[in-house]
Amino acid sequence: MTPNARPPAQRYAGPTVGPFAGTTRLNARRRTVELEALAGRPAVDLLVIGGGVTGAGVALDAAARGLRTVLVEARDLAFGTSRWSSKLVHGGLRYLASGRIGVARESAAERGVLMTRTAPHLVRPLPQLVPLLPGLMRPGQAALVRAGFLAGDALRLGAGTPGTLLPRVRRVDADRARRLVPGLRAVGLAGALVAHDGQLIDDARLVVALARTAAHYGATVLTRVRAGAVTGTSARLTDALTGQSFTVTAGAVVNATGVWAGEVDPSIRLRPSRGTHLLFDAAALGHPTAALTVPVPGSTSRFVFALPQQLGRVAVGLTDEDAPGPIPDEPVPTDAETGFLLDTVNAALHTALTRADVRGAYAGLRPLLDTGGGGTADLSREHAVLESPSGVITVVGGKLTTYRRMAEDAVDTAVRLRGLSARACWTARLPLVGAPGHRDGHPLPVDGAPASLLARYGGEARSVLAVAEARPGAACAPIAEGIDVTRAEIAYAVTHEGALDVSDVLDRRTRIGLVAEDAERARPAVEEILTDRQAG
Ligand SMILES: Cc1cc2nc3c(=O)[nH]c(=O)nc-3n(C[C@H](O)[C@H](O)[C@H](O)COP(=O)(O)OP(=O)(O)OC[C@H]3O[C@@H](n4cnc5c(N)ncnc54)[C@H](O)[C@@H]3O)c2cc1C
Repeated sequence: MTPNARPPAQRYAGPTVGPFAGTTRLNARRRTVELEALAGRPAVDLLVIGGGVTGAGVALDAAARGLRTVLVEARDLAFGTSRWSSKLVHGGLRYLASGRIGVARESAAERGVLMTRTAPHLVRPLPQLVPLLPGLMRPGQAALVRAGFLAGDALRLGAGTPGTLLPRVRRVDADRARRLVPGLRAVGLAGALVAHDGQLIDDARLVVALARTAAHYGATVLTRVRAGAVTGTSARLTDALTGQSFTVTAGAVVNATGVWAGEVDPSIRLRPSRGTHLLFDAAALGHPTAALTVPVPGSTSRFVFALPQQLGRVAVGLTDEDAPGPIPDEPVPTDAETGFLLDTVNAALHTALTRADVRGAYAGLRPLLDTGGGGTADLSREHAVLESPSGVITVVGGKLTTYRRMAEDAVDTAVRLRGLSARACWTARLPLVGAPGHRDGHPLPVDGAPASLLARYGGEARSVLAVAEARPGAACAPIAEGIDVTRAEIAYAVTHEGALDVSDVLDRRTRIGLVAEDAERARPAVEEILTDRQAG
């Protein structure tokens, strides 16, 4: 507590009281009630701008410390970069390669926190396989890869993450390698190196879980609300649904808008880098259970990955391309990137993937700070917390894996600079909704629930089914043939996860929308459930 901390004159009481107190539920009704309450008493301790992983993490950190917190997101939770990632929870190997041991340790520590305490229901161990194939690596490169994996093991040990969760690197024979990735080229295959890292079931689900947990601790979470005219102590908020606006004052304002950070605070200079993924049916690679890791020709530190995903897909990524100019709402992969990814991955496959096999593609922009010179692959992935001359506190850079640490640093800075009264950060011990130990997580197994439901909701699977009980028989029915998303999940997205329209459901609460054809097949049923739930 800072002795000269002074509360704002007209404090917003926030959802720590009223009908939503202590609940993780986000929906249209809560949004309306809380937006009106905020407009009536527009003064808070902390205003967070941006509902990606960084902003949602900051809102959770601040609310859990007892700060009256409002998070505003111009579009939807996870609308930006946070839904376009590779969905890996990294152990920091690439930082070791460039000698940044502190950042590597931080990454490994945060991976351990996510996998053992805060979100074990959303992150699973993923075997990563580097095939030993003639012509795939330069002489000596396999030994380098192995040394890197061993160093990664040391990081894991240092972070206290058990080997039972993330097994040590090992060499496997060709048969075992092809059982893990059946599409692997057999001719000349001398086995493979296999290491383990963490993989999120979905990046957007992590963001939604963070925002809902923040709401549980009293944060007001408002989507379709854009912040403009931002200063160190205020912002003009505009509701995109009604066009109405009002000014909110805050003890501190945190800009967590990723690649848009320079639009909110012109003193921030970024150099975005585009990363692209292509999506294939898992069958095209023989339903792999490990990530295939293929070295990029001519580089010792860059790889293309073929990553098994939910919904029967494999994502092949990724690229690292300078992306200057205006920031698009949704970045688009280029033809050259598609060619590069196909050429690189095909070098390790028995049957080459073609453009005709591509079921979907997506690109995201990394919010990298412009430190001048070099290619974007050389720019630091470290995060930064910066106070601009206007007093806005910007938190930028980093990655999904380290969101918690980024949030802690941002809130520590706000508390220190503005003399806010707050407890110490405790998010490393705070389970997200659905994780064991969270009040809304249910420890018991759920009879009859599909495995995919448990993988996406953890201990919350039971309440997903409960919400759908009003439609007997339909709860576990798929939303459309061949898509393993249940009707219950669509209903839950609307009643509990803050989905306001069909795009929120298809593109962020579920990832059906990554394949346009699937989205069109699911759309009628999603529209029907959305209308029904919003009416009720
Ligand atoms: C291709 C790719 C792959 C990656 N893979 C991984 C990976 O495997 N593992 C990993 O750890 N990291 C990965 N990353 C990094 C990680 O995805 C990003 O660092 C992270 O998602 C950035 O999140 P953010 O919240 O800072 O930004 P964003 O997710 O972009 O969120 C910013 C939000 O601010 C909102 N906003 C903008 N302006 C306003 C305004 N005026 N008012 C209100 N809201 C506003 C936007 O709508 C947006 O939702 C990857 C990145 C890319 C590009």
